[in-house]
Amino acid sequence: MDSELGPKGVETVCEVCQVELDRISEVAQLTEQDIELLRQPRRRINANIPVRMDDGSIDVFPSFRIQYNGARGPTKGGIRFHPGVDEEEVDELAFLMTLKCAVVDIPFGGAKGGVQVDRKELSVGELERLARAYIREYHDVVGPQSDIPAPDMNTDAQIMAWMRDEYEQVAGHQAPGVITGKPPALGGSEGRNSATSLGGAEILDAFVRHEGLDKSLDIAVQGFGNVGSHLALFLHERGYNIVAVSNAAGGIYDETGLPIPDLFEGYENEQDLFDVDAAELSNDELLTLDVDVLVPAAIEDQITDANMADIRADVVLEMANGPTTPQADQYLADNGVQIIPDILANAGGVTVSYFEWVQNTTNEYWTEETVQEKLRTQMQTAFEDVAARKTEADREKSWREAAYAKSVDAVLTAEGYRSNMPTE
Ligand code: GLU
Repeated sequence: MDSELGPKGVETVCEVCQVELDRISEVAQLTEQDIELLRQPRRRINANIPVRMDDGSIDVFPSFRIQYNGARGPTKGGIRFHPGVDEEEVDELAFLMTLKCAVVDIPFGGAKGGVQVDRKELSVGELERLARAYIREYHDVVGPQSDIPAPDMNTDAQIMAWMRDEYEQVAGHQAPGVITGKPPALGGSEGRNSATSLGGAEILDAFVRHEGLDKSLDIAVQGFGNVGSHLALFLHERGYNIVAVSNAAGGIYDETGLPIPDLFEGYENEQDLFDVDAAELSNDELLTLDVDVLVPAAIEDQITDANMADIRADVVLEMANGPTTPQADQYLADNGVQIIPDILANAGGVTVSYFEWVQNTTNEYWTEETVQEKLRTQMQTAFEDVAARKTEADREKSWREAAYAKSVDAVLTAEGYRSNMPTE
């Protein structure tokens, strides 16, 4: 997409950031100056990283680290490895991280990183060299008190371990808090791996209580990776009826409910999703199923103007980042669909990343039970705050508007104190 020039001639890459800010400027009572502060990241860094491949040749991988806003604390956000990564996408994800940390009230700003690469094409050795090269390249701009990366799409605990090790080799000292999502044996937090999903389950439970619904709801989950599989299991254990799940190859459907514990075990053992006895369906069909709750838990831009008129779910729980385009979001909201936005629904991951950083900083380590208990409290409080925002003032807001209003307010209040401006 072409860049546009903003009011002061500064390049605006992220269209979604601009559209969303415009959209909430009224409910959040934003001034021109507020929008000016938030419509651009503070710092964009990119590097084309050369990596030695197994056959002796060198491949060059475009990469990014974008630090959107650090008013509330060190910037925080994952690093994704995906062929489609570009500056616009990382901008949007860094913007969302800024709001996400503010919604759950953890003392971090927002950032995101990415490498344009198809992980499946790399050997383990090549993957390690790329991970280490990335952190060497951005060594000067990341750190436990400045910018703290984490896993995101196609990156995992092993990659975080290599990155911590590489950072420390360059720094010449230990620095466990430089990155989160590490293996527990290397300073990672118990419960981090399933934290995004547990957070999502807590938010759905809180929503169900808020709306006075019962848990016999039919749910379709798009994406059966780390987030989708753990979420399906948590929801199944809580009595929800998971009728459909999918991965990149397609999905399976059973209106009486899928055998989620078996499917989860299959996922953990890298078995094929289609081994169970259930009807098959495409990802497009899954998105338009007549269910109570649709959970996009895969990648961005899944609910768009191409399929928004066909969506039949009453509620959308956004476990992926940015799965609904702004146009589709508006359309669905106008048609009475309740969308629980990504910055609230999937904030459990970064919340436990914060807990991991606290443990690394204090050198006191918590049990999984303690982590999960703290996570529950943090998510429930965030939901209640957003629910209170939803109904305050002169008109009922959507969940997204309420979550954005809360988070933008928190970021601007911090900015205000830093620049000593009256914030009212
Ligand atoms: N990548 C995750 C997210 O999008 C987690 C980020 C983190 O833990 O810093 O929320």
